[in-house]
Amino acid sequence: MKRITDSSTNLAIHTIIQLVWNEKTITRAELSRLSGFSRSTITANVDKLLEDGILLEKPVEGQDKRKSLVINQNRGLFIGIEMDADCCAVGACDIMGTLLKEQCITIDYIDGPDAILKQISHAIEALQQSLAERVTDILGIGVGLPSPVDFAGGYAVHPAFMPGWHHYPVGPKLSKLYSCPVFVDNEVNTMAFGEAFLSDQYRGKDILFVKLGAGIGAGLIMQGCIYRGNSGMSGNIGHMRVDGNTQQCKCGKVGCLEAIAGGGALLKRAELLAHTKQNTFLQKVVEQKGYLQFSDLKEAIKRRDSQVIQMVDESAHTIGSMVGSLVVFYDPKAVVLGGNLCEFGLQYVDSIRRAIITEATPWIKSDFDVNVTKFGDSIGVIGSAMLCISTLIRNGAFVNEV
Ligand SMILES: [Zn+2]
Repeated sequence: MKRITDSSTNLAIHTIIQLVWNEKTITRAELSRLSGFSRSTITANVDKLLEDGILLEKPVEGQDKRKSLVINQNRGLFIGIEMDADCCAVGACDIMGTLLKEQCITIDYIDGPDAILKQISHAIEALQQSLAERVTDILGIGVGLPSPVDFAGGYAVHPAFMPGWHHYPVGPKLSKLYSCPVFVDNEVNTMAFGEAFLSDQYRGKDILFVKLGAGIGAGLIMQGCIYRGNSGMSGNIGHMRVDGNTQQCKCGKVGCLEAIAGGGALLKRAELLAHTKQNTFLQKVVEQKGYLQFSDLKEAIKRRDSQVIQMVDESAHTIGSMVGSLVVFYDPKAVVLGGNLCEFGLQYVDSIRRAIITEATPWIKSDFDVNVTKFGDSIGVIGSAMLCISTLIRNGAFVNEV
């Protein structure tokens, strides 16, 4: 039911929703203490929010009589989308960022943005159908694009390998289609945001998130917020130059980190080993399938193939040294690694960690750490959805519904 509310009521409701969402669970007394509002103001507004189904009350664990407040998680869906070089993950989260369901679709950028958005729409409909036991209205969408992004406009800017996507209005189109707010950002920014928000040890801290996939990119979180830079290009570390290297990069420059240590570069080097008959295992795979995939490199590592292990280890050292220099510059609490290259395993991650720490010592504190994201492959969709939810909550979402 809609009511006419004055601005002080709106402020109280906005504050209550934000605090309950941030704290995940909170009592009325704690709400009053943290917000500065009187107990009577809290009680009156909490009652409205309970009546309208925005908040729920549940007993405090171990204390039957005390009750705490939580956000009602069954109030529609937030869609997270992460686009990558050749696939797109689409997931549905509840308002607390819990991933309810996710699916990945194969995409080809040659098809153009209209066709790809149609594929994404079909994936969203399939998610809604599979979650039909709950409320499936879409309340917001977050999109991560593998490109510099104009956050305010909701579109990619000069993407390297996405023909037709420069200034293509992804945000406005999806917003019109689903009649809901849509936020578009670089996909590593959304991953970094999801990690910083959902990991208790990183919440509100400075972290550097490094995505290691076909390409390499970083997302900077400053005190819990995304740092986008002047032109939305911050964290573009895949195109920073590695001294002494002259490898041609797809960006037109030579010696970029991505052109040496990205997944695409590793596959190219592995293909060369196969075609020049220097590696029997890789050569056999190419003879059978005609090409190599990331999974073949993982299989070679599993078989203890010394050439592939050495190649991957060298790339880990190169990445770690570069990231270590950034740690000296930025002094984050942690570096978090994500992306499918982390699936190369512990040795790969350890090599990166060692190189970062060697490069950054003695300018790091003992509590600095280097970890792989605990959200695995889903960090992209979770992060995109969380960016959307957090922005909506901050902007006063649901206040007008009370
Ligand atoms: Zn480059």
